[in-house]
Amino acid sequence: MRIVFATGNKDKMREIRRILGGLGMEILSMAEAGVSDDVEENGTSFSENSMIKARAVAESLKAKGDNDSIVLADDSGLEVDYLGGEPGIYSARYMGKDTPYSEKNAAIIARLDGAKDEERSARFVCAISAVLPDGKELGTLGKMEGRIGYEIAGSNGFGYDPIFFLPEYGKTSAELSEDEKNAISHRGKALRSMAELLGEELKHA
Ligand code: IMP
Repeated sequence: MRIVFATGNKDKMREIRRILGGLGMEILSMAEAGVSDDVEENGTSFSENSMIKARAVAESLKAKGDNDSIVLADDSGLEVDYLGGEPGIYSARYMGKDTPYSEKNAAIIARLDGAKDEERSARFVCAISAVLPDGKELGTLGKMEGRIGYEIAGSNGFGYDPIFFLPEYGKTSAELSEDEKNAISHRGKALRSMAELLGEELKHA
């Protein structure tokens, strides 16, 4: 058995390999497995969208005669309470998917103009879904709580990290090192939970 992760993102693959490496299985990206996930993410939650991706890739692999891969997929985004949970599942598409994050981040800060510290609560959410070779499905969810900052700060990370302020650290997630962020991030948590679930499954396999 091997793991195929439905992403083309090299940074994600590095984190995935680090966290799931303990399972002792080969871990491939979609490209390495020779499939793509040209599928519309038309779910209404992070969990649904990650499952839609995982099922689509599992189908493609089956069509190629691969019946013994565990397929994993993720979906993630930023929820801002003051904005009723926006951008949420539309985080990548917010203001257009090719709009630079410097603009998206400035727009979110502007929309929170006048909001006090306690009104600026926000979280990153990550759902991971798995489809096992026998068709069984598993899902995990990880969250990282924080606040929308008053200004853009930091150049590590990606996306909305420069406006995601972590009060306990006194800095944004774009000012944390990669290891510091992975230890507390939504994706790190969801991946570690999935590693545990898969570990249990393999024990009983
Ligand atoms: P996807 O799950 O790869 O489709 O990512 C969804 C979008 O959510 C990304 O394009 C970012 O805009 C945002 N996002 C998810 N996780 C993070 C993070 O750790 N930092 C910053 N932005 C994130």
